[in-house]
Amino acid sequence: MEQLGCKLKSCAVVLGLLMVVAFTSYSIMGLETPSILHAWLRPSSKSLVTKLPNATSEVFITVKTTHSSHATRLQLILDTWFTEVMPGNVAFITDSEDDVYMAKTGDSLIPTSCGKSHSIYDLCCKTGAEYDAFMKTSSPHWWCHVDDDDYVNIKRLKEVLKGFESNSSNYVGRLSRGINSVMWKGKEIYFYFGTGGAGYCITRHLANLVYPYAANGAFERTCSTVQAADDCTMGFIINGLLGVPLNESFFLHSHQETLNTIPESTFKEQAILSYKGENRIRINPNLAAFNESHDPTRMLSLHCIVHPKAKICPQTKTVKQEGSDEVT
Ligand code: UDP
Ligand code: MN
Repeated sequence: MEQLGCKLKSCAVVLGLLMVVAFTSYSIMGLETPSILHAWLRPSSKSLVTKLPNATSEVFITVKTTHSSHATRLQLILDTWFTEVMPGNVAFITDSEDDVYMAKTGDSLIPTSCGKSHSIYDLCCKTGAEYDAFMKTSSPHWWCHVDDDDYVNIKRLKEVLKGFESNSSNYVGRLSRGINSVMWKGKEIYFYFGTGGAGYCITRHLANLVYPYAANGAFERTCSTVQAADDCTMGFIINGLLGVPLNESFFLHSHQETLNTIPESTFKEQAILSYKGENRIRINPNLAAFNESHDPTRMLSLHCIVHPKAKICPQTKTVKQEGSDEVT
């Protein structure tokens, strides 16, 4: 018995070493690790999603982010739209511990054990954790996913969602390309989905139906099975499997569209706007609060259009000077 136990132990060690070697070789070669290896080597994200914000608003927003974006994209969110949201109603789902940003977000950073890459497995792992975070809240009727390069006008987002029944199954997003199909249990399933970069929202009613395919690590498995990206897989579950249609909102904008054609006069009406390199909204330089070198994404200036009185925005102050009239 003793000997057999030892043999089993050595086998386990050898097997473990082989798996580490395989995993490392894949990483060195820059290849995506096969899903089967992922499933074995990486613990599920669920165990780390324990602490949860105190969500009391109608809408709970999760932002998908990654460690290398904390000081850049996440900081930009903290400087802009995060200040307009009641604490506890936004959670940042990321892939590593970060005490600095944990403090800066008022404990709204949720580190997971998901990998840091742009592979569908790692991104699906984080989307699953976003879903799990929402399911750990109780008040909000809506869950909205956004990327960390999205500006959210929270007041407008809530107004847009008011146009849909919150007590039934509703899926609101921006249509990504045409009809899609994946193989599921030997059958081809056709569906539409909302592009993740434009943000999408689902009601709690619908989130409950999504549960078997998404909760506690299931989302990552569903992605692996259909070999599709996170937003596509979400659409597959909602539209393809559950038959719930996508309600398209034209107030949601990813950087897949040409952003400089959106009229400046409509910026206050938009619920979500994104940016990517040169593809960004165009703000009249004479009216912009910040120049392009200080505000390359234009999100600071956008924030000052939406919230002119925000702290970061230049204020036209009325100063009372002794012996003179009020000057501006
Ligand atoms: N992202 C991530 N890990 C990565 C790269 C990106 O979690 O290695 C997240 C990123 O924070 C963002 C989303 O995935 O919320 C989309 O990434 P990005 O905007 O860089 O790429 P896109 O797909 O929009 O071109
Ligand atoms: Mn992006």
